[in-house]
Amino acid sequence: MSEVDKVIELAKRRGIFWPSYEIYGGVAGLYDLGPVGVRIRNKILNIWRKFFIENNKEFVVEIETPIITPAKVLEASGHVQNFTDPIVECTKCHKIFRADHLIEEQIKINAERFSVSELNEIIKDKNIKCPVCGGDLGEVRLFNLLFSTNIGPYSGNTGFLRPETAQGMFTAFKRVYGTTRERLPLGIAQVGKVARNEISPRQGLIRMREFTIMEIEFFFDPEDLEVPLDKFEDDSINVLLGSEKIKGQENPVQYKLKELISEKIILNPWMGFWMATANRFVNYLGIQNTYFEEKLPQERAHYSKQTFDQIVVVKGEKVEISGHAYRGDYDLSRHSKVSGEDLTIFKKYDSPRIVKKKITIINKDKLNKEGSNFTKEFMKNVMSHTVEEIEEMINSGYSIDGKKISEFITVSEREEKETGKKFFPHVVEPSFGVERCLFLSIANAYTEKKDRVILSLPKSIAPYEVAVFPLLDRENLIKKAREIYDILKDKFDVIYDDSGSIGKRYARVDEIGVPYAITIDPQTLEDNSVTIRERDSWSQIRVKEDKLTTSLEKLFSGEQFNKLGEENE
Ligand code: AMP
Repeated sequence: MSEVDKVIELAKRRGIFWPSYEIYGGVAGLYDLGPVGVRIRNKILNIWRKFFIENNKEFVVEIETPIITPAKVLEASGHVQNFTDPIVECTKCHKIFRADHLIEEQIKINAERFSVSELNEIIKDKNIKCPVCGGDLGEVRLFNLLFSTNIGPYSGNTGFLRPETAQGMFTAFKRVYGTTRERLPLGIAQVGKVARNEISPRQGLIRMREFTIMEIEFFFDPEDLEVPLDKFEDDSINVLLGSEKIKGQENPVQYKLKELISEKIILNPWMGFWMATANRFVNYLGIQNTYFEEKLPQERAHYSKQTFDQIVVVKGEKVEISGHAYRGDYDLSRHSKVSGEDLTIFKKYDSPRIVKKKITIINKDKLNKEGSNFTKEFMKNVMSHTVEEIEEMINSGYSIDGKKISEFITVSEREEKETGKKFFPHVVEPSFGVERCLFLSIANAYTEKKDRVILSLPKSIAPYEVAVFPLLDRENLIKKAREIYDILKDKFDVIYDDSGSIGKRYARVDEIGVPYAITIDPQTLEDNSVTIRERDSWSQIRVKEDKLTTSLEKLFSGEQFNKLGEENE
């Protein structure tokens, strides 16, 4: 069994996740989270909220918008046109594959975002066949991943399930801006379900058809480069740059964040701010092996000026855990144009600025002398251009009916007072999938010891912090264990269990990742001491009941288990 299969098997056995609608055979890409899975997921979500929202609450707010999205929103955003993956069908067995993935698997090249004709060419040149029956493959075509629906009883009112939460934030931008500080930067965060009709969902929670995204659309003034990077002063991140990928480099290099920003390798400092935050967040989930891979222009989504995928290496597999896209003003300007609503903002300067503006001056007398036909031609050909373009036309000797336009128009500079500027804010977007974080944290924590499984999760994302067990099924031990459970439950996230043998109970809590188990045994009734057992080492120490809370507090604030044992000897 592969490592990933073992994790999936554990997840089913212990109520972390399992295929949805299992009794009807399940549906690929749809998963239920079980009681343990929901607990771990909620903790990951809370940590994400802490790192991304709470720690930055002076400029990040959270909102919630609907899953059902009218077609016009996703037409404006470009998803109806561009949110596609290439597919290819076997002409013999009629199985359908994702064309780029099939090529990647068979000839080991990165075919992400190759054009349809490039994919067709590779399939022909390399004689790629159906991996199931060996039959010939048909022509590659694009398949749109949006799930469509109808809003209300009237046909024709098409809606889609959102494929990302982002569009809800863009369409609500003006409202959020107006109801908060009316200042940039402004981060709008959202956590919510999204749906993508993936062609080939992967086993486990890696590629699902319905999942939860945690993302921020972070709006800023592109001319304001003052970004609070002090807390990342010493942070380094591993990056595989696009320029290195082209040379065939596959391994990331460690850079100081400061260096990536000052050398403009990362296009905008805010992008660096969120990448450093993401790096710390992923480390906090217990995953240390992580790097950022810059996407090449042909690998980027239609809206992106620069994208880094954050990759984690877990059990030998490289998986994207988050995406960081610099979306520029693409979305706001598109929605402004299509909806007709002005989504620019006006930013007042601290004090008015004197700016030099170029203006055109037309020599009307001279122009009128040329007659109305010439004037019409002149207005059509020249005045439809910007002042900069007109200047270039003049300099290059542009003429109409053999007459140079410089005879009729000149460009000059004038000083003007500006009190502020009107512009579309730019956006960077850090985006994580919750279930992917959950799956990768579990896979990363999965360890085997003497034929037993231990889920060595960081304490902060363990489904419970402490388990309380009576050693034997005796009334006096159960009563005492219940008392201790009641004392601990106000301070810790505790689970009580008295079913089955103690060995089975230890195995169960090891497998769901509970870091400490407290056992109440006959000695407890004599001297008020209990045992604390550590999940990862299986070591045990005895502590007095009245010191149990402080002992656990010490352990949760980082004290070594052995050291605590010595203190209690
Ligand atoms: P994207 O919008 O494609 O950049 O996705 C943002 C994040 O969502 C990714 O980094 C993943 O963590 C997660 N994600 C994307 N697609 C899926 C999927 N099909 N199933 C589960 N998580 C996904």
